[in-house]
Amino acid sequence: MDIKELDQSEAMEMFRDSGALLEGHFLLTSGRHSNQYMQCAKVLQYPGYASRLGEELARRYKDQGVELVIGPAMGGIIVAQEVARALGGKVRSLFAEREGGQMSLRRGFAIEPGEKVLVVEDVITTGGSVQEVVELVRSLGGEVVGVGVLVDRSGGEVKFEPRMEAVLQMHIVSYPPDDCPLCSQGLPAIKPGSRNLK
Ligand SMILES: [Zn+2]
Repeated sequence: MDIKELDQSEAMEMFRDSGALLEGHFLLTSGRHSNQYMQCAKVLQYPGYASRLGEELARRYKDQGVELVIGPAMGGIIVAQEVARALGGKVRSLFAEREGGQMSLRRGFAIEPGEKVLVVEDVITTGGSVQEVVELVRSLGGEVVGVGVLVDRSGGEVKFEPRMEAVLQMHIVSYPPDDCPLCSQGLPAIKPGSRNLK
């Protein structure tokens, strides 16, 4: 495998170009305001970008003997697929999903004891779902070689053993609505996902 490194600025350009990273004045679901908004699904709607981003995570783990890539549904499904494809050979791509609130393997998916597993996700903020997938893999006897994410929004706060890699490190700054510099400038706040947003 000979994959060229994808640097932060090239990756950032893919997010901007696809509208996955928006800049402006946004009303977040938390009620806070921000000058940036990220919707990772929008970059993954372009298979060319999805594949290039997946290759970058594959490149970072190419010497780890990964046999299986797994991500939590929904965000991790496309990422797992693209990373496994780039790793090549007979590397499998699985996804975990919740059943009765519990992160589980369904659809006949299985992990063999001792299999080397890379856990992936599109975006992490607290890392909760990824942590559940890591625990699921270990409970089935799999060996987690690392975690790979496209975007780490935790500002470096979230860490995974034995190793974590992120294509983009982002710290999205947010403000309480009564103390927002963008509001002070008189800019209207937009709710992401609304129809007037392109
Ligand atoms: Zn504001």
